Amino acid sequence: MAGLWIRVGLTVLAIVLFALLIQTAAGGRVAFVVAFGCLVIWVVFQLWHLQKLNSWLGDFRLAKTPRGLGTWDILYSAIYRLAKSYERQQAQLKTSLESFRSATEAMPDGVIALDSHNQVTYASDRACRHAGIRVPADYGRSILNILRHPGFAEYLEGKVWDQPVVLRNVPTLGRVLQIQVVPYGQSDRLALTRDITQIDKLETMRQDFVANVSHELRTPLTVVSGYVETLQAIPMDEAQRNQVLQTMGQQTARMQALIDDLLTLSKLESEQRPSSEITIHMSDMLSRLHHDAERLSRGAHQVVLQNQAPSLQLVGDAQELASAFGNLVSNAVRYTPTGGTITIGWEARHGGQAEFWVLDTGPGIESQHIGRLTERFYRIDKDRSRVTGGTGLGLAIVKHIAARHEARLDIESQVGQGSRFSLLFPERRVSQTA
Ligand code: ADP
Repeated sequence: MAGLWIRVGLTVLAIVLFALLIQTAAGGRVAFVVAFGCLVIWVVFQLWHLQKLNSWLGDFRLAKTPRGLGTWDILYSAIYRLAKSYERQQAQLKTSLESFRSATEAMPDGVIALDSHNQVTYASDRACRHAGIRVPADYGRSILNILRHPGFAEYLEGKVWDQPVVLRNVPTLGRVLQIQVVPYGQSDRLALTRDITQIDKLETMRQDFVANVSHELRTPLTVVSGYVETLQAIPMDEAQRNQVLQTMGQQTARMQALIDDLLTLSKLESEQRPSSEITIHMSDMLSRLHHDAERLSRGAHQVVLQNQAPSLQLVGDAQELASAFGNLVSNAVRYTPTGGTITIGWEARHGGQAEFWVLDTGPGIESQHIGRLTERFYRIDKDRSRVTGGTGLGLAIVKHIAARHEARLDIESQVGQGSRFSLLFPERRVSQTA
């Protein structure tokens, strides 16, 4: 169609020019004026359309597509169609990009796209948080200049990417990162990032725990096996034998206590909630604790009971709570030197809460230890703990039981004056009896 219009235009132009030439040669004036006038109109027409095209392209909007005559209309329509298809392609591209973006955002790992020069071409939000990438400022920058870690540089440049690399102590990030590079396309790669700080911490805790348990069991086991060998090798009189058997008995009791505490902890960790919940008569519970403390102290301390809320009872697992209270009382007795005073208390607190507490006049605890006392096997004085029969797990057990009963464990202490361990129970755990 456009070709036809161009041909028509050229033919008219040729006829006009031809007529102009003939008429000029023949000296005709009217024809010359008419032909010249047509030429001027034709040129003005073209210039007008050119101007229209120019101003349309200068402020291009599909809705403002001009209308024209002949070839110009065909030209405008062709541009319109081209622009329309470009617009459609753009929209499709945008949709694909957005779905790629939401797919990468939905992934549990962070995604970084790198070109052959390790320059970042895309990074998902998660990857930005993991690797400290700023978008879009860091697009085009080498990932090695953003994530500065010798282990990562070695991994990326080594090009052996069948296994991920684990990056600890990444400067400025303060987290443990696992990165797996996956090549794609010609020479592009994807770096998949995963924050494994928590998993790494748990793994370290697991290793420490196994090492601690082994160590705690090995010591008494070495003593017992040493005595067994001695009993087999050396003849002993009755008194010596009794002495050896008594020490062996103490060491096996120590192992037994450790295993009991480990089983208690494991049970507490494997069950979400206390298995049985009843209303516990606190006066009876406190009397039993008072009695146990006196038995454990064997007259070395003064043990006082202060039940200031006899009408308040506790709702929970009787066995678990007896174990938590018993641990606090036993610690007070074990760590308070002879002649000290241990006070066991139960009282109402504001808002319907109730508090169980144990106060001692023992050595007290320096403030830097207080936050760590509930960690498994954390002891201030390892020897003192062992001599007094401690397993290092007592307060870890108390912490778990407290959490299962929505209670708060508070520790207040003054070095040289004593300590106060308390469990504050919420209103919904407290019941009132007449
Ligand atoms: P352990 O079996 O060693 O007593 P716990 O978990 O019960 O383990 O206690 C952890 C540590 O807290 C103890 O080793 C001891 O150092 C400290 N501790 C606990 N209770 C007291 C207390 N009443 N007075 C002083 N120190 C205490």
